[in-house]
Amino acid sequence: MKEVTYLEWLKQLPKCDNLYSSSCCPVCNCKGLSYQYMGFNDKDIGWKIVWCESCGSGIKISRTKIPSGANVLIEDKQQEAFFVAHSNLNLIL
Ligand SMILES: [Zn+2]
Repeated sequence: MKEVTYLEWLKQLPKCDNLYSSSCCPVCNCKGLSYQYMGFNDKDIGWKIVWCESCGSGIKISRTKIPSGANVLIEDKQQEAFFVAHSNLNLIL
């Protein structure tokens, strides 16, 4: 599989969250990226996990603004459950 850097990932990401599902993975070129916000109570800055549904490659984007109304995993347990459910992911941190 192609080696893709963090910056190359960032360049490839769509500006708008609703365009992720129609965006292509920079690693395997398949269409269909997913994302998940994680953060803290009462803070609109958190982080975002972005990954490819096909090959499991992805990145963690630190210090990102969480849009109002977005689905955010706040609790440690929820975040752990996410990574258990997505144990195939190969993230650049
Ligand atoms: Zn991929």
